[in-house]
Amino acid sequence: MEIAYWNKEIETIDRDSLKHLQLKYLKETIGYALRTSLYKKRLQKAGITSPDDIKSLDDLKRIPFTTKDDLRESYPRGLLAVDIGDVIRIHTSSGTTGTPTVIYHTQQDLNNWTELLARCIIATGATRNDVFQNMMSYGLFTGGLGLHYGAEAVGMMVIPAGGGNTRRQIKLMKDFRTSVIHITPSYALHIASKLEEFGVSLNELALRKAYLGAEPYSENTRRKIEDLLRIDVYNSYGLSEMNGPGVSFECVYKCGMHTWEDNYILEVIDPKSGENLDDGEEGELVFTTLRRQATPLLRYRSRDLAYILPGDCECKRTHRRLSRITGRTDDMLIINGVNVFPSQIEEVIMQFPEVGHNYQIYIDKQENLDKLIVKVEIYSKLFTGDLAELEALKRRIKDELRASIVINPTVELHEPGSLPVFEGKAQRVVDKRPAL
Ligand code: ADP
Ligand code: ZN
Repeated sequence: MEIAYWNKEIETIDRDSLKHLQLKYLKETIGYALRTSLYKKRLQKAGITSPDDIKSLDDLKRIPFTTKDDLRESYPRGLLAVDIGDVIRIHTSSGTTGTPTVIYHTQQDLNNWTELLARCIIATGATRNDVFQNMMSYGLFTGGLGLHYGAEAVGMMVIPAGGGNTRRQIKLMKDFRTSVIHITPSYALHIASKLEEFGVSLNELALRKAYLGAEPYSENTRRKIEDLLRIDVYNSYGLSEMNGPGVSFECVYKCGMHTWEDNYILEVIDPKSGENLDDGEEGELVFTTLRRQATPLLRYRSRDLAYILPGDCECKRTHRRLSRITGRTDDMLIINGVNVFPSQIEEVIMQFPEVGHNYQIYIDKQENLDKLIVKVEIYSKLFTGDLAELEALKRRIKDELRASIVINPTVELHEPGSLPVFEGKAQRVVDKRPAL
């Protein structure tokens, strides 16, 4: 098979040269990090006051981990390493406590991110002649704009469709002969199930490939989507703290996701002890940015669990491959690609004086999409009152939840004592989605 590359030299660089490059970039990154209030203090404590204090990649281990809480506590500017005048874009993600995390980008940061996505796209065998429909949400989320710029760099015709509105998505795919889509696994299944209803057959579409990410899915789901849509599905992994998509992506061989190690140092650690693990051993993924100016992050704990696949890939890329994400070390839920912490839901519903002390977060699949039902107990006297008032209360809770977690839940009101009670640790989340 003829393998195409976006940047062959760097994608197939030998491991020793890659390590040299990593060291050079790590020093640059330390230079930027020392300009932020958070890292200045932290690095000084670790005895690092200048990039020259980093002599080898092993010195990375002297640096403490960075956590999501560090990002929240540094909001809004504690991790900004350049003059605000040099920043040309931000992305934020929502947090448990309502404090978001922010990533700033300079022009060069965005150019680098775009290059990574161009590499990913070419690695899947797509070309400038493909028509690319991006069905991830645009805006502060990174799934929209990230892939968008990469696809434009490759020269594809981009349809910035965003998420939702299935009828229109299918019409766009048909009218413009979309050949590559970027989509969540749940939405891909949903679209596949709706084709018939909207009177469109696969023969009328030109679909060849789909990039699937933003939420966990299994090898079986991949195969199912490939069969239903008669396409190739490539796994795509990223997180907003590391730009978003473009961190790890599968090549034509679909055997794990190449992680761009000239842009990120990837470590896998034991989440309990923090010790580094070997290739093949499952643990928490930890990333250090190597090419980021505006928001450098050192040893960022992703809370995603996976392992590095040992051995070489037939495509000759030397950047190591990641397994599927097998789980998380925290309780973050991913609902149709959107991240939600149970504590965010609790915070909203407990603002309502009508709400009692018990609630349940119930998630199921309906028509291939995740369905969130928030069940809350309210005080019994409310049930003897006006029905319209109950409906109004339900609506207010629903609206507040939607505003806070960006997904549209169903809200159910229950009598006191009707939801399960727990001795010890309450099990608030009931996840009925089929296991992966
Ligand atoms: P995005 O907007 O791309 O979802 P976020 O930072 O909001 O970015 O979410 C990132 C998280 O989504 C990751 O930490 C991981 O838990 C999950 N995720 C992203 N891609 C995948 C994937 N291919 N497989 C499993 N989980 C994924
Ligand atoms: Zn490969």
